[in-house]
Amino acid sequence: MLRVALTGGIGCGKTTVANLFAQRGIPVIDTDVLARELTLPQQPAYHKIIQHFGEHIISADQSLDRKKLAQIVFSDPTQRQWLENLLHPLIREQVEQQIQRLTSPYCIVVIPLLFETNQQHDYNRVLLVDCPPHQQIQRIHARDARSEEEIRQIINAQVTADTRRKGSDEVISNTGALEELDTQVLSLHTRYLELGNKPQM
Ligand code: ATP
Repeated sequence: MLRVALTGGIGCGKTTVANLFAQRGIPVIDTDVLARELTLPQQPAYHKIIQHFGEHIISADQSLDRKKLAQIVFSDPTQRQWLENLLHPLIREQVEQQIQRLTSPYCIVVIPLLFETNQQHDYNRVLLVDCPPHQQIQRIHARDARSEEEIRQIINAQVTADTRRKGSDEVISNTGALEELDTQVLSLHTRYLELGNKPQM
């Protein structure tokens, strides 16, 4: 099976693009969803995170206060590294297990921090969704209750758009309407089907 990693900066449109592949019947594994599942109450990682950061990151409903956690780790690289060291091996294991069960010619694995965590070489293709910072800020601001300052902080904690472009095999430009995005996804879908139907190296 051809493994396609889908990455991009915050708010560039990874989920939107992933949904367009899913609509064509392609399996999508979203590592953000896996991270949320792995940190639900009763999961081992949940308790480790609370032991490390303290009980103030528990919300009233006992779930982790993800916003608070994000604020801590995006302003402190040491804490961010700690959290990544805990979660990334668990996420990788889950991804492997899910891929083993799939039978389609290719699959999409959404990995926002692909380059930051140096996972690009685990995939046959790296697909980047790209848009300029002002659009990232505009879209996230419209979607979430995050301040512009907070969004900028996250953008600055991620690798540069240039690093992502250099490390990617394909780039989707998400600067226009959703119809334009869909046209680009259709063309890549055709390409990945073709590549996926060839024997993998
Ligand atoms: P995150 O990094 O936060 O996970 P993401 O990269 O997955 O974000 P999306 O959630 O797909 O990005 O997109 C961010 C927001 O922008 C969403 O509300 C989405 O509906 C909107 N959006 C994405 N692409 C477009 C587009 N081409 N036109 C209009 N709105 C868009």
